[in-house]
Amino acid sequence: MALLITDQCINCDVCEQECPNQAITQGDEIFVIDPDRCTECVGHYDRPQCIEHCPVDCIIVNPERVEGPDALLAKYRGLMGRL
Ligand code: SF4
Ligand code: SF4
Repeated sequence: MALLITDQCINCDVCEQECPNQAITQGDEIFVIDPDRCTECVGHYDRPQCIEHCPVDCIIVNPERVEGPDALLAKYRGLMGRL
């Protein structure tokens, strides 16, 4: 699964700095996650770092991007150029 930032985001910029895949950027109103770059931190960490660090718990699973561990690992390898 990729993750999604809800409109509860307070634009604190913490998650952008913690993301190992550069999947998070400042959007028009709140920070946004690029689902093509979010591996749920698979390949880097045991747990999603954005969720770990978000002070207001506003990051959820993107219901439109449900992906299993194999798909997330394949995405990670693609991002690393290791396909
Ligand atoms: Fe980045 Fe990991 Fe959060 Fe996905 S789960 S946006 S890869 S920090
Ligand atoms: Fe928004 Fe949470 Fe990221 Fe801060 S850490 S910018 S509140 S999603």
